[in-house]
Amino acid sequence: MNSAYHRRVAFPNELGISTSRQLQNTPSTQRPGLIVPVGSTEQHGPHLPLDTDTRIATAVSDVLAARLQACEDFSWMVAPAVAYGASGEHEGFSGTISIGTPALAELLVEFARSACRWAARLVFLNGHGGNVAALRDAAALLRYEGRDAAWCSCVARDSDAHAGHTETSVLLHISPEVVRQDELVPGNRAPLTDLMPAMRRGGVAAVSSLGVLGDPTTATAEDGGRIFAEMVDGCVERVRRWTPDREGMLR
Ligand SMILES: [Zn+2]
Repeated sequence: MNSAYHRRVAFPNELGISTSRQLQNTPSTQRPGLIVPVGSTEQHGPHLPLDTDTRIATAVSDVLAARLQACEDFSWMVAPAVAYGASGEHEGFSGTISIGTPALAELLVEFARSACRWAARLVFLNGHGGNVAALRDAAALLRYEGRDAAWCSCVARDSDAHAGHTETSVLLHISPEVVRQDELVPGNRAPLTDLMPAMRRGGVAAVSSLGVLGDPTTATAEDGGRIFAEMVDGCVERVRRWTPDREGMLR
């Protein structure tokens, strides 16, 4: 699996396009779509790296592009990831770098205004729940301006909230070498709805000193493969259907 996204400095794709000239010479009817992974840089407990969400969004984007290529004429490229997001709830844990919702929304708007000068359409592939408000704001404005921009999140059924079974399993599948297996400790396993009032006041630190919501000790690579496939399948379906709502979310 792809675990080398951080070395990415260009647009990798199966179309063999790497230069501006190649894009320039593409007939306007064959302009590619652009998939933009959007992650975060935030604490993920003692066992997962700060770039966990960015890794997941990028890995899903790569497989999504390949799957879409295989099933239709329209071609897709994957952009280098936006690796910073809105992670205010993780402030207080070293390593977290949050740019907040307004700055992220503005970044996404300017990104898409620029990219849509040559890309036929654009989808932000989101790997972090805290980014949703910015994605909604940005996509609503972009669509109002007449740009064909949308977003969709990496989601799976029965996921736990943060650095627990779900994310740890997915990382064991896509980047096993970065999971610190000797640091797996159960976090706060209470339902998110119960934790929200305290979290609104004091962030994740108020409910888990470890920064873990869920239980990573049950994670397996096998389950990660299943969850990852579910994330990819959901995104393939929604991107193929391409029915964004008013705020650009693909249904
Ligand atoms: Zn995460």
